[in-house]
Amino acid sequence: MIVVIKPGTLTLEIERTCQELRSWNVIPEPIVGKHQVAIGLIGDTAALNPQQIQQLSPFIEKVIRVNKPYKRASLEFRHGEPSSVIVSTPNGLVTFGQNYPIVSIAGPCSVENEEMIVETAQLVKAAGAKFLRGGAYKPRTSPYAFQGHGAPALDLLATARQATGLGIVTEVMDTADLEKVAEVADIIQIGARNMQNFSLLKRVGAINKPVVLKRGLSATIEEWLMAAEYILAAGNPNVILCERGIRTFDRQYTRNTLDLTAVPVLRSLTHLPIMVDPSHGTGLAEYVPTMAKAAIVAGADSLMIEVHPNPKKALSDGSQSLSLQQYEEFMKQIAIIGQAVCRWPQEYPLSTVPLGSHRQLSTSSSANP
Ligand code: PEP
Ligand code: MN
Repeated sequence: MIVVIKPGTLTLEIERTCQELRSWNVIPEPIVGKHQVAIGLIGDTAALNPQQIQQLSPFIEKVIRVNKPYKRASLEFRHGEPSSVIVSTPNGLVTFGQNYPIVSIAGPCSVENEEMIVETAQLVKAAGAKFLRGGAYKPRTSPYAFQGHGAPALDLLATARQATGLGIVTEVMDTADLEKVAEVADIIQIGARNMQNFSLLKRVGAINKPVVLKRGLSATIEEWLMAAEYILAAGNPNVILCERGIRTFDRQYTRNTLDLTAVPVLRSLTHLPIMVDPSHGTGLAEYVPTMAKAAIVAGADSLMIEVHPNPKKALSDGSQSLSLQQYEEFMKQIAIIGQAVCRWPQEYPLSTVPLGSHRQLSTSSSANP
């Protein structure tokens, strides 16, 4: 339930209203918007009568019942205003959100060695990325496939962070590793396969690090938002949702189906920032630029792109990774779209290659998703 306070109400009156609400056995959580304050009511609100609450104070404009199962993640909870996630990186603060420039994240699927991660970090930074991604702990379908280098790879990410000042995004798969991952990561990634690992969600909810929550392989939008709700309910408000493709019937020509409809749908349901990962979403480097452009037009706040110095030799996800040169060109191309929607950081150069020319990017043929 949301209690909307009339504009211009004094803080003292808002506090007094919160006090009253506490006596109704609910926890009031003030949400300060640009123009107005609202109070989210947490707890068992089913028995509460909105009309009775309305009469508590003349400063209450209206009382709204949130009928959705997710509360803190709902757009109503923020009284219709988008939230932003501010991440501190050595190069400065970076903000994810609907009213901010699109944030680019790039890097290899897995951290393989120092040379490749530092080289990749330097190149993606020069091309305009604000974050380096790279897995130390890899969720692989086969137990015989490369599982990531683990803790030593975290040290390599720290080296790349120091060399470039880029923020680090890396996945945690196990609660036992959370502390050491959080030491290096500026944003912790919860992968698709762990979207409903509730003990992991509660643990990342209990720390204050920003979290990228990837959509589960076959998760509905509601299940995904309920997973976000776990993190928010545990006390961490810094959640970014990442659409990374879902399982549909066609596995012949694409690895997953990138559900770009999810972007406007999420916009209508939640205040949380939205990221799109067209690399896992398509599984093929050839289609990544087109779907990244489409994601920007759909309204994504951030893009996550897999990039590798030698995709053919990558230890994981080579077939969907752009080479360093391809990423450079990719960033110039998507800058055109980013600028068209007035959401591109000013400093990056524009492409000389015409739009829609993703086939001009020669792609790797290795297939090891
Ligand atoms: C990844 O980012 O490399 C990854 C494994 O992602 P997902 O969880 O979306 O499959
Ligand atoms: Mn990957």
